[in-house]
Amino acid sequence: MTGKVRTRIAPSPTGFLHLGTARTALYSWAYARHHGGEFVLRIEDTDVARSTQDSTDQILASMHWLGLDYDEGPIYQMQRLARYQEVIAQMLAAGTAYRCYCTPAELEEVREAQRARGEKTLYDGRWRPAAGKVLPPVPEGVPPVVRFCNPMSGDVTWDDLVKGEITINNREIDDLIILRPDGVPTYNFAVVVDDWDMAISHVFRGDEHINNTPWQINIFNALGAPLPRFGHVPVILGDDGQKLSKRRGAVSVTAYEENGYLPEAMLNYLARLGWSHGDEELFTREQMVSWFDGSHLSKSPAQWDAAKLAWVNAQYIKAKPDDALAPLVAVQLQKRGIVADERLPAICALFKDRCDTTVVLAHWAAAFYADVTPGEADRVQHVTEAIRPVVLALADKLSDATWDKPSIGAAIKEVLVAHGIKMPTLAMPVRVLTMGTAQTPSLDAVLALFTRETAVARLRAA
Ligand code: GLU
Repeated sequence: MTGKVRTRIAPSPTGFLHLGTARTALYSWAYARHHGGEFVLRIEDTDVARSTQDSTDQILASMHWLGLDYDEGPIYQMQRLARYQEVIAQMLAAGTAYRCYCTPAELEEVREAQRARGEKTLYDGRWRPAAGKVLPPVPEGVPPVVRFCNPMSGDVTWDDLVKGEITINNREIDDLIILRPDGVPTYNFAVVVDDWDMAISHVFRGDEHINNTPWQINIFNALGAPLPRFGHVPVILGDDGQKLSKRRGAVSVTAYEENGYLPEAMLNYLARLGWSHGDEELFTREQMVSWFDGSHLSKSPAQWDAAKLAWVNAQYIKAKPDDALAPLVAVQLQKRGIVADERLPAICALFKDRCDTTVVLAHWAAAFYADVTPGEADRVQHVTEAIRPVVLALADKLSDATWDKPSIGAAIKEVLVAHGIKMPTLAMPVRVLTMGTAQTPSLDAVLALFTRETAVARLRAA
């Protein structure tokens, strides 16, 4: 390959951006960026019945969220119909495609007979022109499809970037339909015209497309178009060893955004799922771009590991500056009807070490802005009759303490000394009353993040 590296991602807008597509987009993007090339986004919307604008919007939003910027697009296939029809006309004229007038009933009859004989169901070529062959009379009122004259023998071989050499014999595949009666092309044809017109040099896609690739290579050849390199990335399997699917948990990028994952953590995790660079587990997008040269892609399916993703996300949350983390937590708080304030970065700083998503962090932060209801068991265990007067004494002390961590710490110590008790005996009930749980970071730090009014009021409610 001597020209410029150009890659693309070509999602069909029939749903959200699937994690598998996001990973393929990431590989395509990183490969282009690594080589100083270009990355194109194409929307394959020729399945008119299933494609929606809402889905396109979601896909674009997810690409944006992940930071996978593209140099061209979105290019919509449905806006390119005239171009496909032009190429079809050229192929009909050149004899590399032909019209087929078979009715669905006729085709089903052929398939049934093939099944009965235990054969693969392939189009029988009855409308394929050949020297000396008499074609059936063109029937009235049957709108034709256009089929591709696939070579009838020989092998199609390509050196797959991921899987190595793959060979499929032309006898395994038939003359596929490339244009439907309504003038809309099928996937295998439109994808070739597009990859050709858009000068795509490297195609990364899911390995469910391996069986389509021989047709596409044959069409490229029929058009005299240069072949891109293909890399078929294995599927992602769920915990149960089955293909990752909606039925088994969240598979959309949007769901992870909503559930408090950071885009940089998602990219890091998705990158590692099927690709490696030595033992590196945590890396920036810049590092990935500098390393991603198309090698070290795994040939075997990757296993989705929710626990590992949570771990990766936790590392990114821990490392993220509090001022950058706070707005993300604020979004999660808003969903709970809570408007945060300038304390939020400090709250993030204190709690982020114990959180693997911003949703969990928002859960902690919520205690500072909305009422908490301590668990009954915690209340019974820690907020005892004996400790109540001590808690009230602390409330009094805090009513006129200077409101900062050292002064609050000093107030707590004074109360402990005055009542002759140890820290945990007082800390536990105070945590339960203020935060709603007995497990929190150190008490003075936690209390300092409350407003004085809220802290004192919660203690007085003991
Ligand atoms: N629209 C196809 C898909 O979403 C694209 C496949 C390809 O990349 O060629 O699976």
